[in-house]
Amino acid sequence: MRIFFILAFAGWGGLLFPLSLEAQGANHITDPSYNDGPYIFYEDGAVLARWTNQEGLREEVINAGQPLEIDAGISASFDPAYLDVNDPFLASAKTAFKGVEHIAAVSDIHGQYDLLLDLLKANRIIDEQGNWAFGEGHLVVLGDIFDRGDEVTDLLWFVHKLEKQAEKANGKVHFLLGNHEVMALQGDLRYIHKKYRYTMARMGMPYNELFGENTYLGRWLRTKPVAISINNTAFVHAGFSEVLLDQGLSFADMNRAFEEKIIGQPEDSILADPILSLLYSEDGPVWYRGYFDEGFAKWQAQAILSKIRKKHIVVGHTSFSEVVSLFHNRIIGIDSSIKLGKKGEILLIDKRKFYRGTLNGDRIRLN
Ligand code: CA
Repeated sequence: MRIFFILAFAGWGGLLFPLSLEAQGANHITDPSYNDGPYIFYEDGAVLARWTNQEGLREEVINAGQPLEIDAGISASFDPAYLDVNDPFLASAKTAFKGVEHIAAVSDIHGQYDLLLDLLKANRIIDEQGNWAFGEGHLVVLGDIFDRGDEVTDLLWFVHKLEKQAEKANGKVHFLLGNHEVMALQGDLRYIHKKYRYTMARMGMPYNELFGENTYLGRWLRTKPVAISINNTAFVHAGFSEVLLDQGLSFADMNRAFEEKIIGQPEDSILADPILSLLYSEDGPVWYRGYFDEGFAKWQAQAILSKIRKKHIVVGHTSFSEVVSLFHNRIIGIDSSIKLGKKGEILLIDKRKFYRGTLNGDRIRLN
């Protein structure tokens, strides 16, 4: 049975929300063009899907063994066939992947779902229907799905689906945390699209609680790493600074610190610990920009690579108009400004050769 509740907005606590939202008034909140969801909550032994459409807040109880039939207006990328509400959501202890023949990486998508689909289709990572077509290849989504654009929920459900499809094909999707995932989960909501302020109002909770520990997407996001390697290449949203690597942390140490001690934890407790505050800082893996500083030299890149025992580092976070290479592919920057919603590129690694993949599907060799 489908059970719907249409809830009034009257109960939402104005104090929880920024003044700008209250000033918008209820008209904007009931804007009929506005849809979002689903968000799935574990509450008192039940699993509830909530989404919003022109009728307001909708809710359905997810019963075991019964497929979810959510009505129109929710994310087009959400497919209940891929939902596993009994998933234990365990973070993978594995950080190094070997023997992968085809690798693709894309970063800083920032709510631009349509543009990402175009890019992945053009480069045959997905088919025309948006399903995995990359076989045993590995796709790295290098952080910053959240913030700026208005298709964040669509992107999350899309990456979640693709992850499951890839797994079935013996391929893999690696979604790494960027600083904007960390910010959203920490309740730093300065960059969220105004659409999500309406969602907050409708749901009666701050945005980060839509991804809290009692939610499906929140649990899923909490399993995501900040650093991995595939073959001889390391992947991290922003970079490994020398000062961070001097601490001698492994990729597994960094991932565990974010999972257990940073995401969803009060900032005071993070800043009170020197290692955690370093990981959380501008010298940390989701914020560092040093590779693209003017004075950054080849010998420094070489020193960093020898510390992590890799030949290449792929990062996003610092924006360019295309995929860029430093020091003969020792460092590759893949934030190609997808966030602007107009164009972007994907990095392709085939038989240890590096290429820019364009929106036209062209491959341009990187040196
Ligand atoms: Ca970033």
